[in-house]
Amino acid sequence: MCGIVGYVGTREAGPILIEGLRRLEYRGYDSAGLAVVNGAHVVTAKEAGKLNQLEASVASGMPRGRCGIAHTRWATHGPPTRDNAHPHVSGDGEIALVHNGIIENADVLRRGLEGEGYVFQSETDTEALVHLIDHFWAEGGPLEDAVAAALRKVDGAYGIAVVSSRDPGKIVVARHGSPLLIGVGPEGEMMAGSDAAAVVALTREVVYLDDGDYAVLEPGGYRTFHLETGEVERAVHHVSWDLAAIEKGGHDHFMHKEIFEQPTSLRNVMRGRLLPDEGDSRLGGVAEHQFDLGRVRRVVITACGTSWHAGLVGELLLEEYAGIPVEVEYASEFRYKNPVLEDGTLVLAVSQSGETADTLAALKEAKHRGVKTMGVVNVVGSTIARATDFGIYLHAGPEIGVASTKAFTSQIAALALFTLHMARRRTLSVVKGKELVDALERLPGQVEQILAMEDEIKQLAYEYKDARNFLYLGRGYQFPVALEGALKLKEVSYIHAEGYPAAEMKHGPIALIDDDMPVVFLAPRDPIYAKVVSNVEEVKARGGRIIAVVTDEAPELQGKVDHLIRVPHTVPGLMPILTSVPLQLLAYHVAVARGADVDQPRNLAKSVTVE
Ligand code: GLU
Repeated sequence: MCGIVGYVGTREAGPILIEGLRRLEYRGYDSAGLAVVNGAHVVTAKEAGKLNQLEASVASGMPRGRCGIAHTRWATHGPPTRDNAHPHVSGDGEIALVHNGIIENADVLRRGLEGEGYVFQSETDTEALVHLIDHFWAEGGPLEDAVAAALRKVDGAYGIAVVSSRDPGKIVVARHGSPLLIGVGPEGEMMAGSDAAAVVALTREVVYLDDGDYAVLEPGGYRTFHLETGEVERAVHHVSWDLAAIEKGGHDHFMHKEIFEQPTSLRNVMRGRLLPDEGDSRLGGVAEHQFDLGRVRRVVITACGTSWHAGLVGELLLEEYAGIPVEVEYASEFRYKNPVLEDGTLVLAVSQSGETADTLAALKEAKHRGVKTMGVVNVVGSTIARATDFGIYLHAGPEIGVASTKAFTSQIAALALFTLHMARRRTLSVVKGKELVDALERLPGQVEQILAMEDEIKQLAYEYKDARNFLYLGRGYQFPVALEGALKLKEVSYIHAEGYPAAEMKHGPIALIDDDMPVVFLAPRDPIYAKVVSNVEEVKARGGRIIAVVTDEAPELQGKVDHLIRVPHTVPGLMPILTSVPLQLLAYHVAVARGADVDQPRNLAKSVTVE
């Protein structure tokens, strides 16, 4: 959430900053702005709205200079206006700052600073920080000392980048709770970014800051410090993907591209991890940590949004195959209760970005209580990946579409690999293990078959695009899919949708059913199929229009449903991967048919780095 980019080097900063913002726009698009140091001045440009507003405003005169910072905002404090757009500047215009996160003691700081005569121009929490830096700036001192002094007074979460004409030619960056990295360019050019997408056009060598770190970036090099311990060394990491991975590659939207990448992303999450002869999986991260999974008595999965839905599938998998009790907790709720985490509990954090603020906070709570933690994360080197004891990377490549698709199916596959590993160390036989391995291996090809049905699903989407509500119903492994299908539709098309366990419908939601309410039934042939057929009858009896996702000709449903979407069959535990793909396509095409902005849906942003 919120994109930060910074550049200092030998070239004009403006176009590089705009290019970086373009790569980060999925992280927030309420406003965009940049500030460039030009001799004795800092020149700022900012606009409310999407990045193209800023581009239009700088088209006739890009601020000039070789050192600058930029930002796309996802507003937390104050509406998405021009005044609230970042960068925020000091009263004399000599310091400019961009921020991702929330300064929790901003009101107290603001009152104190106003008492000293500082005048605020915005309603943001961020602005207090720029005046605080000014307040602490010692005559003739370097920018980083003023920034560090200010940060010691701040509560909350931040990733920041600061420039000043009082100490030109350098960027000071810092992080606490919100992601920030340094891009080390080949010719001594330096960049800063809230994720690697911001810098990858220049370099794939990055340095991740840790909480409490700050750094000084100058042409030719950088130095890293910690607020408490002084100068520190932070390792340089190599980003394994390149620019093509964050471009649309001929697709109209990132969401579409990512839906179609699923055969590949599924192959990638399984690559080298399946042991077909042994009916087992090999998980490097787990093996390296040498943790005896036999000691695990209970698993708590913590996540948010789509990852939470994947967690629900993980719960069913682990309980079915490995016989381990599992709970799935919303990370934002988990951290504020008094979770009972006894010895033998493994806390598993699921997050695409590895930066989700609530999941990270839940993870910290778990660590604080002394239990083992594991991550299921896509972004290599991300905070959650580094904070957990061990984990499984998805290797799905960057996911830019705000509505998560390929990460969801890869998360389920990763949880299935983990389940297999756990189950084989408990009671699961080699034969049963081999069955699961075999089913996993067939998934990418099966997803390809579903993707080939796009036209059929697109036609359905046009038929239902004007619906005002949708209901998604499923049972067992298909209940999380119902939740995820409804979430996808809400996110990108703004149609109200609910996911429910199909049998729960009669305890309330059935009151909503009339011929205006399309109902999507997840009805693969699994042990609970007959029950789902009865639920279909109940809806039909009340005039609902029904789309059913099935795995064969479904003779029991003929004449009772309006549309059948037939997907290939697999074991029930992996079925969610196959049934969720048509629902992704449905949500996507409904949104396109309604003219919605699929990749930048209203009010949302990728990678939720505020709590
Ligand atoms: N809290 C800040 C604001 O509302 C930063 C939000 C962001 O991360 O974009 O402006």
